[in-house]
Amino acid sequence: MLLVSLVYASSVSASVDEQAVARILETSRAYNEQYDITGLLCFNHRYFLQCLEGSRTRVNHLYQRILQDPRHSDILLLDYAEIEQRRFDQWAMGYVPSGQLARQQILRFSGKAEFNPYEMTGASACGLLAELGSL
Ligand code: FAD
Repeated sequence: MLLVSLVYASSVSASVDEQAVARILETSRAYNEQYDITGLLCFNHRYFLQCLEGSRTRVNHLYQRILQDPRHSDILLLDYAEIEQRRFDQWAMGYVPSGQLARQQILRFSGKAEFNPYEMTGASACGLLAELGSL
């Protein structure tokens, strides 16, 4: 099976709060577990940053669904790669809420004080996600 990793950034829609994100996570974990997709989702009220890992076909299929979702917009693909092994194999969808996005990590990976994944390179977005996933 060809394994891939896909990382994107998006802008959170106005109506989306922590409760809405909890619902997204519930749906995501059920679906991802069924289709052997793993990953990590970061949320800070303005932006999402998400990594999806799994078979190429399934990750692409899920990404098409996520693109249609009105709970976010301006979806920007930051990184797409074939991988040998998963980074987030313990999570059907791990979650990093805004309170856990430490300023120092953001500074180190983006050179900015505020979390804004649109200003990150694919490599720095992957680096930040990998570090958050290892905490
Ligand atoms: P249905 O549940 O039938 O919904 C139909 C449409 O309405 C879709 O466009 C759907 O996106 C939208 N929708 C569904 N619920 C709501 C709601 N409460 N409010 C507004 N619109 C809604 N899904 C996963 O399975 N795995 C993931 O890892 C994953 N990550 C996501 C990350 C983000 C940032 C977002 C915003 C969504 C994510 N989703 C994920 C949800 C995904 O976009 C789909 O909603 C989900 O897969 C169900 O798709 P469906 O085609 O069955 O839609």
